[in-house]
Amino acid sequence: MIDKAERLLAVKSVKPTSVRILVLAHLLKDAKAQSLKDLEVSLYNTDRSSIFRTLKTFEEYKVVHSIDDGSGMMKYAVCAEGCNCDPKDLHYHFYCTNCSLTYCLLDNPIPIVTLPENFKMHQANMVIKGLCDKCP
Ligand SMILES: [Zn+2]
Ligand SMILES: [Zn+2]
Repeated sequence: MIDKAERLLAVKSVKPTSVRILVLAHLLKDAKAQSLKDLEVSLYNTDRSSIFRTLKTFEEYKVVHSIDDGSGMMKYAVCAEGCNCDPKDLHYHFYCTNCSLTYCLLDNPIPIVTLPENFKMHQANMVIKGLCDKCP
């Protein structure tokens, strides 16, 4: 995962500091999205503000995207290599109401929505709620 994290940072032109590699390797390990709190718990040797700053940098450079799944905490998931977080890169997310995990549904891009004239889209929050395959 360290190799993969380093490669992805290089692709996205982000300077690979040790905290960045650590956070990204951790996010890459699982298919699920993670909140700042999840990361804090897993990376207990790293302070909260470094993790937070790292996530903000990652968002800026399109290394991760944030997901508001309605759980009250923003979650973060790794973007695909060619992702620019453009409308065409946006996809549905799945939130399991039992285990509270959030997954990217990369094969399900969001439909193109025709907005009224002069309206501009900044974000689309498409979350499907239900039970994941690990929950009864
Ligand atoms: Zn579940
Ligand atoms: Zn996603």
